[in-house]
Amino acid sequence: MDTTGTAITDQFERPLKDLRISVIDQCNFRCTYCMPAEIFGEGYQFLSQEERLSYDEIVRVAEAFASLGVEKIRITGGEPLLRKNLSELIERLYAIEGIHDIALTTNGVFLPKQAEALKAAGLDRINLSLDAIDDEVFKSINSRGVKTSPVLKGVQAAEDAGLQVKVNMVVKKGMNDDQILPMARYFLATGHILRFIEFMDVGNTNGWNMDSVISKREIIDQIHEHMPLEPINPNYYGEVASRYRYQDGEGEVGIISSVTDHFCDTCTRARLSADGKLYHCLFASGGYDIRSLLRDGTSDHGLKLEIMKRWTRRDDRYSADRAEGKTPKDKKIEMSYIGG
Ligand code: SAM
Ligand code: SF4
Ligand code: SF4
Repeated sequence: MDTTGTAITDQFERPLKDLRISVIDQCNFRCTYCMPAEIFGEGYQFLSQEERLSYDEIVRVAEAFASLGVEKIRITGGEPLLRKNLSELIERLYAIEGIHDIALTTNGVFLPKQAEALKAAGLDRINLSLDAIDDEVFKSINSRGVKTSPVLKGVQAAEDAGLQVKVNMVVKKGMNDDQILPMARYFLATGHILRFIEFMDVGNTNGWNMDSVISKREIIDQIHEHMPLEPINPNYYGEVASRYRYQDGEGEVGIISSVTDHFCDTCTRARLSADGKLYHCLFASGGYDIRSLLRDGTSDHGLKLEIMKRWTRRDDRYSADRAEGKTPKDKKIEMSYIGG
């Protein structure tokens, strides 16, 4: 069967369009809501180099996905900039036919050293995570005593290299909800789009409960009271952030509301973990072992057929189920492992 360029859809007619690749499970931060230091401590066993997919293996998988309709790739982690020579991988992914857009999600600390090489390799966009503009609040979140300035230098370095930059902020009650307005003001002034992310029940270690979620509505209301906002249309089908523009002039913010206003109906994303497991949902409990397939000598055609088989059977809609009170109790994969 020739599957070149074939657009495949899942059980809810959702096409396969995006691939998120986690390149490493390690991180230089211990954000309390993602990799709590008491769990991801000294003795924590991260993946070995042998366990992680090599760049050759990642490129092979990406080629298979591109031939099945994937156009966008996002590189994530852990902290992806901790993986050696990441620009080499970007360059090879950029060369794949059908891939039009390569983005990276990072905490930004290593960007001053790497931004130019990443841009030269073909990277288009960066999502930079920053959860507070106040140093003390930020230090208490990243648990590594890192102030905001190294991250803001990362924003500047990405900007100087000609990369498009958006800033993402996870909002959790009692952690940084007092930072919503200061962050909105700061990034309105710098001209960057800031996107607020509702705290999600990913993984099993971040102590999530519904009370700690600040909803999309609350975030909008808080900002709107001081700086009036109005909704605007999505840029494209399946955009995860709802967009709002400031009524008084330039600038917009986005809200990623996986908890209180899910977007499962247009979810076109597949995820590949650093050790080569394929997941169809951020909240999945198990993944399909692509690494074994690759290392057992499966042909490119065989690889494509397996991916196709799995996507066409896909019926994940975790956030929609959660909204209907049907959340399964199975152990879920950790965010640092699958990369958000
Ligand atoms: N280390 C990189 C970074 O922080 O940008 C990339 C990986 S990180 C897992 C990707 C994104 O997931 C970050 O923006 C992070 O804030 C977000 N994230 C992690 N845990 C989350 C949670 N429980 N709920 C919502 N977002 C979360
Ligand atoms: Fe690291 Fe990103 Fe998780 Fe923070 S959110 S611990 S920077 S992987
Ligand atoms: Fe996609 Fe799963 Fe998130 Fe729904 S819950 S938007 S299916 S990743």
